[in-house]
Amino acid sequence: MGTDLVADARTDSRSRDDFRIAEAKAIPVPELVNRLGIARLHPTGTELVGPCPLCGGRDRFGINLTSAVFLCRKCDLRGGDQIALAMQMLNMTFPQALQFLCGDAPARLDERELQRRRKIAEEAERKQRETQERYRRKAVADARAIWDRSRPGSMGVVRAYLMARGIAPDLLPDLPPVLRFVLDHAYVKQIGGEWVTPHRGPCMIAEITAPSGELTAVHQTWVDPSPPHGKARIEWNGEVLQSKLVRGSKKGGAIRLHTPADAEILVMGEGIETTLSAMIARPFERAAYWAGVDLGNMSGRMVKVKGMRHSGRPDMTDRKAFLPPPWARRLVFIMDGDSDPVLTRAKLECGLRRAMAFRPGLRGQIVHAGAGVDLNDVLTGASETIPAEGA
Ligand SMILES: [Zn+2]
Repeated sequence: MGTDLVADARTDSRSRDDFRIAEAKAIPVPELVNRLGIARLHPTGTELVGPCPLCGGRDRFGINLTSAVFLCRKCDLRGGDQIALAMQMLNMTFPQALQFLCGDAPARLDERELQRRRKIAEEAERKQRETQERYRRKAVADARAIWDRSRPGSMGVVRAYLMARGIAPDLLPDLPPVLRFVLDHAYVKQIGGEWVTPHRGPCMIAEITAPSGELTAVHQTWVDPSPPHGKARIEWNGEVLQSKLVRGSKKGGAIRLHTPADAEILVMGEGIETTLSAMIARPFERAAYWAGVDLGNMSGRMVKVKGMRHSGRPDMTDRKAFLPPPWARRLVFIMDGDSDPVLTRAKLECGLRRAMAFRPGLRGQIVHAGAGVDLNDVLTGASETIPAEGA
């Protein structure tokens, strides 16, 4: 009989632990990190990310908002749930952590310890900002130096390359001044943590202009010196590399190919060639033609929505993505034939919705430039209008 009582007590304590474990695992992640004194984390869709609370590693720590799986990319801090994080943060055993998280009197770290941890996190964040700013300034200075070395010229590399891409001089008699060239330009890229120069040669240089009007980056397209002067083939250790590179800080910027003084429509493709093709078709009066450099810049950050692979909805905390200038009353994104049309479309919708949210009254449209489709027909014909958020 005595044995039974012990067994009962054991079962009872086990089920109480099970209950507590379930309770601990139900603690919302923002509340958990707050109680553990993990500061300066910021949400990035599905995770909270920021300085590691143990090693101070900058932006190396991430915890999943749903599963509470956490990981530092620098130290050993990693695990699968709320209890594991409490154990490692507080140097506790499993029962101690459980007691801390959901004991009869749930504990909190004392104020001095919380403050100490906040200081470490703030310091890590400040250092990271400084490093990023230093890199940014260096990249922008590089971009300006490249631009200063580049030359305008209607008979040079730019003309040859555009002809190879089907843009003949009679279609585009005057080259946009934002397109220049360097005859002998080094292709410099960081591969495997090392800066290498696998190629040098003629290169088209495009000015990327920030919303402020300043040059903050250049877009570089290396051109094959032999006819028909298409993109240069660049290899490194047997791997074929992109013949285009951006140097500088491109986010929020654009390659402003053509901006008439009375513009009220902005037509934007991702690349220079697509956007020039649209410009040659001259589908609209009072339209500017800018290349968006890359889809990520046109789209900005997208929010994750449960059950949707690509939500197409903008993360409005992303303040660096491209926005059309205030004069634009219509924003037309050109959708290229792409390997992943669903993702491309979601990104373009995301960018348009962001723009419409920031610029009330703006109309957003997507036009498709698929294979065998005349861009002129597409641009002048029916195109889809994207409804504004919540419309
Ligand atoms: Zn760490």
